[in-house]
Amino acid sequence: MATVVALPIERYESIVEPDWCPGCGDFGVLRALQIAAAKLAIDPKDLFVVSGIGCSSNLPGYIHAYGVHSLHGRAVAVATGAKLANHDLKVVITGGDGDGYGIGLGHFIHAMRRNLDLTYIVMNNQIYGLTTGQASPTTMKEVRTKSTPLGNIELPINPIALALVSGATYVSRGFSGENKHLADLIAGAIEHKGFSLVDVFSPCVTYNKVNTYDYFRKRIYKLDQEQGYDVKNIGLALERSFEWGERIPIGVFYRDEQPTYEDCEVALRNGPLVKQPLGLSKELFDELMEEFM
Ligand code: SF4
Repeated sequence: MATVVALPIERYESIVEPDWCPGCGDFGVLRALQIAAAKLAIDPKDLFVVSGIGCSSNLPGYIHAYGVHSLHGRAVAVATGAKLANHDLKVVITGGDGDGYGIGLGHFIHAMRRNLDLTYIVMNNQIYGLTTGQASPTTMKEVRTKSTPLGNIELPINPIALALVSGATYVSRGFSGENKHLADLIAGAIEHKGFSLVDVFSPCVTYNKVNTYDYFRKRIYKLDQEQGYDVKNIGLALERSFEWGERIPIGVFYRDEQPTYEDCEVALRNGPLVKQPLGLSKELFDELMEEFM
């Protein structure tokens, strides 16, 4: 295996300063992504970061790489197009729980069952932060928010279990207060060939007074320190994905090697269409251009 020489982390620093609230968990996620990119020595021109809408979706502006700040819930669709057009890009999607597990839920599930070679980092703060504190798809039951003043009556989505049953081949969870651990998870996700999810507990210090840094520090434990835990055992991963309360697992729940969408699609087996010969004579090409232009 070739030795990878890490690049300086400054290569990924943007000239734009984040406008997140002081202490927001998203700072830790941004830094972890920069550390992971530096560790993998990804040239910024080969890194493409796509987001939807929300506080965390501002992230592509804060990292030196190519990026698109797309529409609410549509980041996965944009990332899919980019990856299929250029297989050489490392495509990373960044966004929040409302954007990814609410508005964009359909795209999320279909990208996983296709096993597209994408990395999805979800900054899961269990609240809508940008719109000032309404219940999101991952807000816990009974939690009072601006939109649930008597307590949330809905069950939260379990993104880890959902990813496991939808075909994702790298399923993980991190915590923005554990920066090095999170950077390792993100590096593993980017290196993984196939759809990878990194769900991150990224506290919203302004609007979520329940799921705070302290809340998670008291509860989280690392799966890789659990004796006998096997990342290839999907049954075990599913069992751990439902663990919530006094002990909450973080780390890689599940990892598997499966052919990607790009590997299986006949038209893409020889690389992106833009790099393949057109298969038309010049005369026919000129004729078609004449007819349709
Ligand atoms: Fe972060 Fe919450 Fe502030 Fe948004 S409102 S920047 S999620 S702390």
